[in-house]
Amino acid sequence: MTDAAGYGLDHLPYGVFSTPERDPRVGVRFEDSVLDLAAATGRPEFAQPSLNAFIALGADEWAETRAALPALIETGAHRHPLDEVTLHLPIEVGDYVDFYASEQHASNVGRMFRPDQEPLLPNWKHLPVGYHGRSGTVVASGTDIIRPCGQRKAPTEDAPSYGPSRRLDIEAELGFVVGVGTKLGERVSTGAFKDHTFGVVGLNDWSARDIQAWEYVPLGPFLGKSFATSISNWITPLAALDNAWTDLPGQDPEPLDYLAVGERAGLDITVEVVLNGVVVSRPPYASMYWAPAQMLAHTTVNGASVRTGDLWGSGTISGSEPDQRGSFLELSWGGKEPFLVDGVERTFLEDGDEVTLRYTARGTSGGTITLGEVTGRILPAT
Ligand code: MN
Repeated sequence: MTDAAGYGLDHLPYGVFSTPERDPRVGVRFEDSVLDLAAATGRPEFAQPSLNAFIALGADEWAETRAALPALIETGAHRHPLDEVTLHLPIEVGDYVDFYASEQHASNVGRMFRPDQEPLLPNWKHLPVGYHGRSGTVVASGTDIIRPCGQRKAPTEDAPSYGPSRRLDIEAELGFVVGVGTKLGERVSTGAFKDHTFGVVGLNDWSARDIQAWEYVPLGPFLGKSFATSISNWITPLAALDNAWTDLPGQDPEPLDYLAVGERAGLDITVEVVLNGVVVSRPPYASMYWAPAQMLAHTTVNGASVRTGDLWGSGTISGSEPDQRGSFLELSWGGKEPFLVDGVERTFLEDGDEVTLRYTARGTSGGTITLGEVTGRILPAT
């Protein structure tokens, strides 16, 4: 398989690139090349260092632009080899919310963090649980991740101490990008999901488990998560995922009316977690309990507005099998059961580790599309 595989005419993800001669601008990836949309169309919304101006235009414009792309690509003009461009963060991120939509992940974490209680808290099957994250530290794939420092206190320790995280982890997730925002007081119904959501990105919610475990009660994740969140350079428009929708695994009890969705509300996307070149897990997005449309409906049901560039993460994707877990916390069961990578026992991230998340889905032409990957390397604490 070449790098071009999965990037045919049925995919055409959007990103922001620059060259030594050209300022950052919007491009579309086709195979191993990037089409300079600013030059090819002359449209001002593409002569921008983010996709925000374009994705704010709405679903009709998204569809018209996409329909025009094959002819622009065919001319061969304004195309740059992928290895001659620099890729950037594709959006100016508005608000960032992270959900917790995998029943297996929430159950696994519940068992580890609260071993004397039911793994799922009573609200979990009634609403998609989430928290507001830090949009200013969302970074593009390829950005190095500096090991965070903070307060941590193991259950066996008498007092907290300060220092580099000893339990640095990943969370393999999918991210969703808002194109069209809402006014304050407006709600987005589950049926209006595709009018507001432009597309999806790969997302790694880097997590310092020791900092998180000490700080999270009672208000949820804070510094254990806010140091960095990586997203892919390429945004796959929802139109490229028309054949990837699938039924949710099943919701019991039935959620309240504002969260009702029909068939094919889930996404069948295969994820690979790669540590230093070795695949260590294959989480299936199709196993996620809550649908993306339910997450957006819930985010806005109180009248909170969303804006162009808002980003939400699905939460860690974990399937039911041990080799489908989307975090090292789960793969090593809290660090107690190391897993083998090329014959070496591993638990949490070490300095110098490189993690890449890869995503594939059914394309609209019957083949497979490769979503933008997310990669990052751990640098020592400073
Ligand atoms: Mn997360």
